[in-house]
Amino acid sequence: MASFDDLLTLQHHDSAADRLRHRRATLPERAELESKRAAYDDLGRQLADVTERRDAELREERRLDDEVRSLEAKAKAEDSRMYSGTISSPRELQAMQADIDQLKRQAREREDEELEVLMRREALDAEVAELEAAQARLVAEMETTMAALEKQVAEIDAELAVEEGGRAALLPSIPEATLRLYEQVRTANRGVGAARLVGMNCQACHLALPATEVDRIRHLPPDTLARCEHCGAILVR
Ligand SMILES: [Zn+2]
Repeated sequence: MASFDDLLTLQHHDSAADRLRHRRATLPERAELESKRAAYDDLGRQLADVTERRDAELREERRLDDEVRSLEAKAKAEDSRMYSGTISSPRELQAMQADIDQLKRQAREREDEELEVLMRREALDAEVAELEAAQARLVAEMETTMAALEKQVAEIDAELAVEEGGRAALLPSIPEATLRLYEQVRTANRGVGAARLVGMNCQACHLALPATEVDRIRHLPPDTLARCEHCGAILVR
């Protein structure tokens, strides 16, 4: 009889351990972390897109800047040539002046374009900075959530160690065959391997057993194992 009572105590430890493991696996911080990671990845994709557009504007800005410098250099060179005194033909000088004006006009146009590109690039720079800041905030939040999760897991693990210790202490007093059966039933029966028979009812499935069956079980020798005909649980009477 003693071993069957031990079986119920074992069941008590195992059920508690199952609940703890379930709680550990389903801590709300896990879902929270997952959604924050997804948000972080989403920001990462946005960041890649905005950075790419920003870099394209930056390249365009540099290209226009080079063009402005080159046009200005050409204008300056023409200007020096014009005032060097080597050219005396008024017609040629007039044509040169027209060229210089044209070069300067083109340089100003490119400069205006460059300014527009620069404004777009700066707006994208601000977007990049904003996305990076949002990512940094998420990282900080995830660290907080992670710490809370680790704390809870440690607490649950400590409780779990108590239940597992209780289980281990009981094992030597339970016959091996009974233990094997208990484990089999427990696996098939959503964690319940043994239950008390209270009145007509199996406390594992809460179904009533026929009166004749209850009577038969009650008259079995104390060391004979009985099982619920509904769920298969080992019945402790
Ligand atoms: Zn049952």
